[in-house]
Amino acid sequence: MGLYEAFKDVITVAQKADNVELYRQLLDLSAQALDMQAEIARLKEENTELKKRRDVASEIIRHDEPCVTLRNDNQNLFYCSHCWDSQQLLIQLNCHENGTFECPHCKAAGNYNNELKRQSDAEMARAFSEMNSRAHNLFL
Ligand SMILES: [Zn+2]
Repeated sequence: MGLYEAFKDVITVAQKADNVELYRQLLDLSAQALDMQAEIARLKEENTELKKRRDVASEIIRHDEPCVTLRNDNQNLFYCSHCWDSQQLLIQLNCHENGTFECPHCKAAGNYNNELKRQSDAEMARAFSEMNSRAHNLFL
């Protein structure tokens, strides 16, 4: 028997006994008990959510770059460390081949792989230099 049904039965008994004061106190008690039951349900839900966050937090791997990854993640996805630190949100970063990223949520940007970024910058510098010397040869 649930709390609501139990109180309904007891209140019916109090009504039949024609005891107005007992009836009034039982109504107050039942209202309080039902409020407490709702609060317990809310707290259970909140506790489940906190446990989930704690479990995820234990899987977080920090890096020198402003991003985090998850232990045992076969895809090796990168997530925004700012979003994780400020709101415990795992927001997957938009990663580019040149080693840079942007967060689609907070718009933070940076390098997820400094070595890739250095290689990409060096290739760009080489390509620019080669283009410059070709242009120089064309016009002189
Ligand atoms: Zn973010």
